[in-house]
Amino acid sequence: MRMLCEMCGKDTGELSLVKIEGAELHLCSSCAKFGTTVHAPATAGGAAPGTSGGSARSPRRPPAQEKDVFAEMPPMELLSEWPQRIRKARESMGLSQDQFGTLLSEKSSVIHKLESGSIVPSDALVRKIERTLKIRIHSQPETS
Ligand SMILES: [Zn+2]
Repeated sequence: MRMLCEMCGKDTGELSLVKIEGAELHLCSSCAKFGTTVHAPATAGGAAPGTSGGSARSPRRPPAQEKDVFAEMPPMELLSEWPQRIRKARESMGLSQDQFGTLLSEKSSVIHKLESGSIVPSDALVRKIERTLKIRIHSQPETS
């Protein structure tokens, strides 16, 4: 009895029973790779669909992590030596700390603290400073 591949019709001595989309076909070796060999030895092949047991468990992250992000927004990343950048830019514009403070609607003591690096400006203040002095004191994250 001749054995013909049920896919390509090739006359071959060796056919393997192969499952393709639910149908079992006798296929030659070159067609067999398109399907799942039915008579495969019961090795631990994870690729077989419909095997009993393990549905993939996706690891869950604790919700606390997300909460952290929202509770404490990461501050803008300020460039190194940003206090000096502010002071130099202010001085090059001929502004006193007091005048600069007025422009920012901040007290001069705030300006003093900023320029000594003892306080970190809020995001809004960073933008105001940059706009007023026409400088950049924070690094912009790359957005593509
Ligand atoms: Zn074939």
